[in-house]
Amino acid sequence: MALLGDAGYGATMGGTGTGVAIVGAYVLAGELALAGGDHRTALAEYESRITGFAKGCQKISGNAGPFFAPPTERRIRSRDRMYRLLSSCLLAGFFKRLTERAATDIELRDYPA
Ligand SMILES: Cc1cc2nc3c(=O)[nH]c(=O)nc-3n(C[C@H](O)[C@H](O)[C@H](O)COP(=O)(O)OP(=O)(O)OC[C@H]3O[C@@H](n4cnc5c(N)ncnc54)[C@H](O)[C@@H]3O)c2cc1C
Repeated sequence: MALLGDAGYGATMGGTGTGVAIVGAYVLAGELALAGGDHRTALAEYESRITGFAKGCQKISGNAGPFFAPPTERRIRSRDRMYRLLSSCLLAGFFKRLTERAATDIELRDYPA
């Protein structure tokens, strides 16, 4: 059995959930193709190649859930104010760099077509 995307890594919030799911699907499909039917080898390779990358993306998403979905009206208003601030050009660049580092922290192989 292999777990992929949110089911596998739960890096849902924080701006990298879709990317890590797509990279995971690419690596899993590629390793299955490369192993030529030996699914045990393919799954072990998939796990070893994706774990560090997924952990980096999880780290970024750590506090994003409570930030995006706060439990009280006052904190929802405070989130909205903060979000407007974070969306300003200067901070948007900072957050782009922050997520980009984790989102690109994997060496992808060229797999057979
Ligand atoms: C509010 C919000 C904002 C987000 N913003 C971003 C963002 O800006 N950038 C980013 O990269 N990511 C973002 N994400 C995260 C991103 O949406 C997920 O990480 C990504 O969709 C995970 O893909 P997935 O294929 O693993 O899961 P999903 O996209 O959840 O796909 C799972 C699919 O399985 C189906 N399913 C569930 N149970 C069953 C079943 N029993 N049988 C058959 N089908 C089933 C579901 O209906 C669904 O279609 C955000 C998420 C949320 C909730």
